[in-house]
Amino acid sequence: MSKKNLNRRRFLKTALAGSAAVAVGGQMSRALAVPSAPRVSGELGAPATGEPAVPLSLLGKTGERIPRLVLGTAMDFDMRLVKQAYEAGVTYFDTADCYGGGNSEITIGRFLERTGLRKKVWLTTKSDSHDAPGMLKRLQTSFGRLKTDHVDLLMLHNLSDLPSLNKVMKATADRLKKEGKIRFFGFSTHSPNVSEALAHAAKLGWIDVIMFKYNFRSYGDLELNKAIDAAKKANIGLIAMKTQGSAFSFQSKVDAFKAKGFTQHQAALKATWEDDRIDAAVSEMKNVQQLEQNVKAARDLTRLGSLQLRQLLQYAEATSDSYCQGCNHICSAALDRPAAIADTLRMLMYHDEYGELSRARRLYKELPEALRTFDGLDLDAASKACPHSLDVAGLVGRAKKVLG
Ligand code: SF4
Repeated sequence: MSKKNLNRRRFLKTALAGSAAVAVGGQMSRALAVPSAPRVSGELGAPATGEPAVPLSLLGKTGERIPRLVLGTAMDFDMRLVKQAYEAGVTYFDTADCYGGGNSEITIGRFLERTGLRKKVWLTTKSDSHDAPGMLKRLQTSFGRLKTDHVDLLMLHNLSDLPSLNKVMKATADRLKKEGKIRFFGFSTHSPNVSEALAHAAKLGWIDVIMFKYNFRSYGDLELNKAIDAAKKANIGLIAMKTQGSAFSFQSKVDAFKAKGFTQHQAALKATWEDDRIDAAVSEMKNVQQLEQNVKAARDLTRLGSLQLRQLLQYAEATSDSYCQGCNHICSAALDRPAAIADTLRMLMYHDEYGELSRARRLYKELPEALRTFDGLDLDAASKACPHSLDVAGLVGRAKKVLG
């Protein structure tokens, strides 16, 4: 490790310790690689000429180099955005069978069919079904929508039931690889047991890639950091998602970012890339402006300075009581019956922080009614149980008002 990188690692340890957090345990020598196709000439949509596209990163044991910025497609988007992303060098498309009720896969499929670019993009889809027969059935549906006969990576979507990663699943993944239907296999997770899932996968030895919830607020999570270390040691490719951490008030609250010329969106992404254990970050980009911002951040290899890192950590600490960490098992345990508090607060974040009104309402309505009917529940008890001091009663009340 170079002296410069060593110093940086020391700084992170100091900065994080100073904010009552635990050090990021990852390597600080970022392994950015030489970009391959496509190359672009600067502005989005410009004809491919010679400038580097989005920098590439080695994705764990897959041995493949992928753009460190991945196009997330869980929200509404159209084919123009996919085209612009591709032309800008964001050649990794991440979708799932459930995104947009199947529309995400359909839109990407149309793009691939019309452009003939299937071989030039990395395509990941995910299965909402976590048992082997169900996953196989859904994969066939995905192939039909995506207009392809194979995907580069198949994931189990939002895995929390770790027993699903059993011998039958391994045999099924191996068979799909032999048949050429998938190249790699893994899972995504933003459930309460993210750390457990990473640590478990590290021991299994047959998981190629994990996409998991990770942002600047995760820096101080000791258990998660240990699990990331274990997954990295097992050479599992690691992709961060949910990178924004409800960071939409950065620009007004963290002046140091302005000085560096970052927007709040870029700062949150950069904070994720600051951890060199993370191979890439997936970002949902709903319009060309967001795409431009993200691509600019990905191409600019300037690292956050010590001032920015400190302010970021202070910001995380100061706003921890307004950001739901997704540990639903803790607050719902204080109630008489199960309730989807974390999911409800996530939809509220989409509504209030990200301005995604219709998506937030649609996702909220997709939650099982029994889990989003909070009538008669003692939500003050849930507030008291929350280790992050969230006002569960107040926030759920607001969610019901704006989303219901
Ligand atoms: S309200 Fe608190 S305990 Fe419940 S999921 Fe959110 S952060 Fe966790």
